[in-house]
Amino acid sequence: MTAKPPKSVRPEGWSAETLLVHGGTLRSQFGETSEAMFLTQSFVYDTAEQAEARFKDEDPGFIYSRFSNPTVAMFEERMRLLEGSEAARATATGMAAVTAALLCFLKAGDHIVAARAMFGSCLYVAQELCPRFGITCTLVDGRDTGAWQRAVRPNTKAFFFETPANPTLDLVDIAAVSRIAHAAGALVVVDNVFATPLLQKPLQHGADIVVYSATKHIDGQGRCLGGVVLCSEKFLKDNLHTFLRQTGPAMSPFNAWVMLKGLETLPLRVRAQCETAARIADRLAEQPDVRVLYCGRPDFPQAELARRQMTGFGTLVTFELKGGKAAAFRFLNALSLIRISNNLGDAKSLITHPATTTHQRLKPEARAELGISDGMLRLSVGLEASTDLAADIDRALAASRIG
Ligand SMILES: *Cc1c(COP(=O)(O)O)cnc(C)c1O
Repeated sequence: MTAKPPKSVRPEGWSAETLLVHGGTLRSQFGETSEAMFLTQSFVYDTAEQAEARFKDEDPGFIYSRFSNPTVAMFEERMRLLEGSEAARATATGMAAVTAALLCFLKAGDHIVAARAMFGSCLYVAQELCPRFGITCTLVDGRDTGAWQRAVRPNTKAFFFETPANPTLDLVDIAAVSRIAHAAGALVVVDNVFATPLLQKPLQHGADIVVYSATKHIDGQGRCLGGVVLCSEKFLKDNLHTFLRQTGPAMSPFNAWVMLKGLETLPLRVRAQCETAARIADRLAEQPDVRVLYCGRPDFPQAELARRQMTGFGTLVTFELKGGKAAAFRFLNALSLIRISNNLGDAKSLITHPATTTHQRLKPEARAELGISDGMLRLSVGLEASTDLAADIDRALAASRIG
């Protein structure tokens, strides 16, 4: 085992905002205010005895930054406090977190059930990578709780889904699906990126493992890639720790430092972005040729579930232009403030056309099954003034109708 950083106790009554500024800080002997960036690959020992003790996990301290690093440990501890989990481990990217969370405990002969509506690379891991190693996968409509039950087999070991899902914002009932998984002896792995760690707490609804792409709202300013897995001490000890240590998808200390700074402002940013997203969703819904999907609107197909398991409705607004791909492209090309990009969770508002970018690999029938139409656009709302965004959208809507 590697050295464990001292765990800061969760001070009684501290809210998320406070934890995200102070939680997990490890000050060096210099007493720096801002967290230090430890750009070092390895660590030195005072004596041969100390090196031996550290490798035996009898001496706390660091060994090698593939295993752990003080800056990365601060980020992990701050995430752990925010999520309210027993353990947290950072990874190089969100996909490294997803891959590690699944492959660290699955083996040939196991079966997993995953929601069909998923981030493209997550779908690849579940549907293509796992089967290559003898782990079979059944894809279900995640919204249909009965479908999860029907997909269970004697060897089912994991349920895996994201909620809200990319790009249709389909929801999975975490509590109901977790009950089915646990009755079958399977673990529940939730990709919580769209909800952010602030708006939905999957562990409180019964999930076992939560993963994030820190690339998104946690950085929040479009700079670094990163990921994190949150789990129990037992899962860390039995599965995740050794897998990460030996396979090496470690987060760089530089990226961990950027993520720590990102966490300090996460509540302010997410709150502002959610408010603007709700305003834009309402405005788009007034248009006769636009169909809006936003988790917080009363006309959202799963509005009741959204209110039950989320405390805020997110920074993403998906909408469909009746004029199909041509109208969607005219809309995109007429924007001047909102930028065309497949990324999300950034301070800058970003918009993507899933059918021709993130989901272009799928056959048209598969896209139709997921509800991804040619007129669908996914908007990640940033920190700009909502009035400026509204003006940009109004111009683009007008342009989308001339064709
Ligand atoms: C971006 C994203 C990922 C992958 O994260 P990376 O940091 O790009 O590897 C996984 N799941 C969801 C829902 C995402 O949005």
